[in-house]
Amino acid sequence: MRLFMTEMEVALEDAGSLGRAANDHLWLHFNKLPAEGAPPPRMIDRGEGCFVWDTEGNRYLDGLAGLFVVQAGHGRSEIAEAMARQAAKLAYFPIWAYPHSPAARLAERIANLAPGDLNRVFFTTGGSEAVESAWKLAHNYFSLIGQPERQKVISRRMAYHGTTLGALAVTGLETLKKPFLPLLNGKSCHVANTNRLHCPLCSSEPACTLACAGEIEQAILEQGPETVAAVFLEPVQNAGGCFTPAPGYFARVREICDRYGVLLVSDEVICAFGRLGEWFGCNRLGYRPDMITFAKGVTSGYAPLGGVIVSDRIAEPFLDGKSSFIHGLTFAGHPVGCAAAFANLDVMEREGLNQRVLDLEGEFRGRLETLLELPIVTEVRGMGYFWAIEMARQGERFGVAEKEWLIRKFLSRRLPESGLLCRVDDRGDPVIQLSPPLICGRPEFDEMTAAIRRCLEEAWEELSAGVAMR
Ligand code: PLP
Repeated sequence: MRLFMTEMEVALEDAGSLGRAANDHLWLHFNKLPAEGAPPPRMIDRGEGCFVWDTEGNRYLDGLAGLFVVQAGHGRSEIAEAMARQAAKLAYFPIWAYPHSPAARLAERIANLAPGDLNRVFFTTGGSEAVESAWKLAHNYFSLIGQPERQKVISRRMAYHGTTLGALAVTGLETLKKPFLPLLNGKSCHVANTNRLHCPLCSSEPACTLACAGEIEQAILEQGPETVAAVFLEPVQNAGGCFTPAPGYFARVREICDRYGVLLVSDEVICAFGRLGEWFGCNRLGYRPDMITFAKGVTSGYAPLGGVIVSDRIAEPFLDGKSSFIHGLTFAGHPVGCAAAFANLDVMEREGLNQRVLDLEGEFRGRLETLLELPIVTEVRGMGYFWAIEMARQGERFGVAEKEWLIRKFLSRRLPESGLLCRVDDRGDPVIQLSPPLICGRPEFDEMTAAIRRCLEEAWEELSAGVAMR
């Protein structure tokens, strides 16, 4: 018997046991459990700047910033050190009875960045909790001002607002909701999104008629204005592929909300903290919400944190010394998460990342638009560092089988093999989505575009040969 294994054998054994640990014990989100004897999965091991590496040493351009999260890039020791200092000083204390300095300082900083009178921050640990907290706060607010019937929310079809049962009721993706129906006794309803390319309301008109905003008014009237608490909208809708609003959309929505006394919640879990080149997406698009929900980019993912930024008007009835918002979470406003966010905002400010996004978004778009010469690309849309490339067969929408082959069988495998991690989505028309770290620039735009071009050229060849229908 040999006493020593070679370095290679040790590495293989480690990889094997790591693969087994993942396959046998880790439950991946939104994924099927692996079959008995499935090969070990690709495992991400480390990150630096715009790139991550797997345990086998393969390098990937992180074209989705993890999951629309890592604004400042991977491997920022400055943020890690700020977290370590905070953990050594006070690793945990709840923000229930007593504030602690990281939460107080961060709340002040976020309030100063937020527009208008959005001055108070209710922290959570993530986006779903932020959405659910905003809904509960709207409900609580209306009870206090004598309108307890106002409990319902309106959001857009296909929009993703989270997965906990309350947030899932706001989400407009039927496939995610169906297994868990009925949700909250029908207290939510959904209206048109701003998908100009395939808008059932006005795509045949020369310009958007804002009929999609009109649907919000119709929904308020149908539900009964006295029962509607809030409208939840993302500045740019993620699910379906970066649906940007037509000029005038949000002004119209604001007008409708004001007419019926309904609150406007800007769900900025993706669109805040530089994704659209401003601290908040509503600043970029020029509207004033009553609440903003945030998470993801606030810490660049160095720790979980989210929250709701609340206007003075919503906070006002809670200032009577008697009423409290009956809601709380053990880990919300975690000291280490707040320290991570503070250090992340320092990096973003010092390096001018918002301005960088504004300066470079045209070049990013320009690179992606070169893909429009491919017969499989039908539209490039988005804003800031948040883009979608929609695919079709020479302008004709793909059928179900082709769409499934393209997204699930081909691109979800080939793009990572080409060194690019990004989102491919077939929940609406098929799209590739890019939302890279805000530090990326021309070399990364070129690398992303080249990888996508290669994969789409191969996909087109295979589709033309009828592979999807076999
Ligand atoms: N809202 C929006 C707009 C999101 O994009 C997401 C997640 O992607 C959420 C809410 C839910 O956030 P989380 O996954 O942190 O719960």
